[in-house]
Amino acid sequence: MTSNCRIRHLGVQAWFKCSLALENMVLCAMIGCSNRTERDKGKRFFRLPAVISHQGDQTHELSTRRQREWMATIKRKDLNLEKLQYIRVCSDHFVHGSPAKLYDSTNPDWVPLSLNWL
Ligand SMILES: [Zn+2]
Repeated sequence: MTSNCRIRHLGVQAWFKCSLALENMVLCAMIGCSNRTERDKGKRFFRLPAVISHQGDQTHELSTRRQREWMATIKRKDLNLEKLQYIRVCSDHFVHGSPAKLYDSTNPDWVPLSLNWL
C-alpha cells in the first residue's frame, strides 16, 4: 500500500491521493526525501508559511516572497495554492531543524534546502 508514495516524482495530485490512502500519515513534499510521520517519529513536519495580509504592506510582501521561495524549492510543477494546505516539509531541510522567523530573512532556514544541496 505504501510503495507508490515513495516515488518522489509523483505529481502533487497523485501524491496527495497516496497520502490520503495512508490516512493520518504526513509525507515530506521535498523531492528526494521519503520522510513521513509514521516511521520517522524524530522528525518534525512544517506547513508552508502563509501569506500574512493583515499586518501591513511589509509583512505582506515578505510573507508572499517567502511562500513563493518555498514553492520554488519544493519544485513540484503542479503545485498550486489549493494544494498548499496538504504540503509539509520535514525538519531535515533546515540547518537548525525548523524554519526561521518571517523577519529573519537572511537566516539560511528562511526557506528549506533541497536535498541535493545537503
Ligand atoms: Zn524531508
